[in-house]
Amino acid sequence: MSQDTLPFIPFTKPTIDEATIAAVADVLRSGWITSGPKVLEFENALGDYLGGATVRCFANGTATMKIALQVAGIGPGDEVITTPISWVATSNVILAVGAKPIFVDVDPQTRNLDLNQVAKAISKNTKAIMPVYLAGLPLDVDALYALANQHGLRVIEDAAQALGSSWNGTRIGHAGKHDLVSFSFQANKNLTTIEGGCLVFNTERFGEDQVRLAEKLRLQGLVRSGPDGMEVDILGGKDNLTDINAVIGLHQIKQLDQFQKRRIELAKEYFQKITQAGLANKGLGLPVADYEQSNWHMFQVTLPLTRLQRSRGDMMTTLKERGIGTGVHYPIITGFELYRKLGYRPESTPIAAEIGRSILTIPLFPTMSSHDIDSVVEALTQVLN
Ligand SMILES: *Cc1c(COP(=O)(O)O)cnc(C)c1O
Repeated sequence: MSQDTLPFIPFTKPTIDEATIAAVADVLRSGWITSGPKVLEFENALGDYLGGATVRCFANGTATMKIALQVAGIGPGDEVITTPISWVATSNVILAVGAKPIFVDVDPQTRNLDLNQVAKAISKNTKAIMPVYLAGLPLDVDALYALANQHGLRVIEDAAQALGSSWNGTRIGHAGKHDLVSFSFQANKNLTTIEGGCLVFNTERFGEDQVRLAEKLRLQGLVRSGPDGMEVDILGGKDNLTDINAVIGLHQIKQLDQFQKRRIELAKEYFQKITQAGLANKGLGLPVADYEQSNWHMFQVTLPLTRLQRSRGDMMTTLKERGIGTGVHYPIITGFELYRKLGYRPESTPIAAEIGRSILTIPLFPTMSSHDIDSVVEALTQVLN
């Protein structure tokens, strides 16, 4: 079979039903297509999903995180401790507000921040910790906040991948449990609005004034008063979500539990079939099998590159020829030229450097079938032999 007739299994795929498409058409016909009633409705739906939390939506996850840093008062001279195994957006926003990212090493099993390393990296200039829940796997949130509170630090959670994940029975972003939590609704995420994001405020720590500040930063720093009053006293961006995006989110959030249930079933199937095929004995590294707390945003393995004497890119090409899409989430941030020029080095976080070299995302999305899982495991087996 030639490549274009092979059924291709991408590493991810959004699930958009006909009701969603019809709802988008309705918004397009309504005469109001940018930020309006659907955004408010979506913010409320997200708040309900998170136990009554205060939520504001933004154009994307990156804008959301940048605004979160600004709301927390982080700027030039401040240090923010974060992970080098993330999408580059995480540390780009720290640079964008003029602060300094401090990268610490990750735990080899969870591939998330190692809190012992975080503790060691705290200096007099540290203002915040920015954890990432890679693939939706949560950190020990209790230990994270205990550490932050002990040192008077803020926590700005890059929960871009973790909507639906939980720690100790409480959803990530649940009302009152966190400082500031940022989610992304980009096309690959478990809930998508095509592009989009939201920020969850713990209103005990970030009150009305800070919610207003986030709203101002979202739209040019503008405050309206009366029928024609406008004032701009700070520099804001153009980071509002549109009603078109929001109406997609309103339909997605109704299906989110179902999506997640299916992702968990598929993850379990991967573990079973990968074990049956003996791939762990061939050096394939598996994710933490946390079916209770992870939302299984991605299923990520690590490849035994030294044993195989083959590059990851080469193996990805072979898998692609067999109809299997894969992705790299992520190469280590400190290996990028921009970061090297700033003096960062992958070698300073050796565990993260190894993960960045060997990690591979294999297909996982709600409409995948058991047969698809078989095809992926079969192709992986061949590549590892
Ligand atoms: C998706 C993602 C972002 C950025 O979100 P966008 O909506 O694409 O701007 C940031 N951090 C992580 C970990 C992500 O996965």
